[in-house]
Amino acid sequence: MVVRTDSDRVRHSRRMVLELLASSVDMSLAGADVQRWNKEYEVDAQRYGPPAPPSAAGERDRRRPGHHEVPDGLTAANVTQPVKIDDELYIRDYSKCILCYKCTQACGEDAQNTFAISVAGRGFDATIATEYDAPLTDSACVYCGNCIGVCPTGALMPKSEYDMRQAGTWDESKQTTTRTVCGFCGVGCNLDLHVQDNKIVRVDSPKDHDVTHGNLCIKGRFGYSHVHPARPGD
Ligand code: SF4
Ligand code: SF4
Repeated sequence: MVVRTDSDRVRHSRRMVLELLASSVDMSLAGADVQRWNKEYEVDAQRYGPPAPPSAAGERDRRRPGHHEVPDGLTAANVTQPVKIDDELYIRDYSKCILCYKCTQACGEDAQNTFAISVAGRGFDATIATEYDAPLTDSACVYCGNCIGVCPTGALMPKSEYDMRQAGTWDESKQTTTRTVCGFCGVGCNLDLHVQDNKIVRVDSPKDHDVTHGNLCIKGRFGYSHVHPARPGD
């Protein structure tokens, strides 16, 4: 059997998938690979019309499974909804969500076994949600942030990063990354500290680390407010 991976039909399918995603989801923070594919396949983000107006707060969450809105034929339906900010640790911007399910797998059997988030709804109205769509603070979430670590589109993001992006001060060209070992317990998780202007702005864990495989607990990922900034001459 010959499997063709670069025929005209395959390229057409890839382009269509990318255009459907681009027309309905905010892909502006998706990685460099997506930008490269968009260019390679000449993706037209508005092939299905300009985006429909954004949903009001909670509107998408209230839609009943299986009762998809009839499209108006003039605009492209999209998944836009207001950013969910329940606390000071991380935000959920489901207008950037491509429903890859990586966060639910990280929260579930891949890493955390907490099962705080899952898919709610059906078809185009499907969203990632907590149980009964409760705020994160009232859900089973333990704030490990492992869902953030796997999200490919920036839909899940530390609040520190979100605030800086909103203020226009997030600048990866000014950031350094320092690898260190978490000192909160004896497991020895590796941490990558992203530092900008002498402040920790985000913490990740290397995906190839034998112990963590990119996962952390709340202390390693968010417990850095006590870290003293470096002093001149340190
Ligand atoms: S922070 Fe951890 S527990 Fe909370 S939703 Fe994300 S993966 Fe699940
Ligand atoms: S990992 Fe990100 S893009 Fe994927 S389903 Fe979760 S929120 Fe959506």
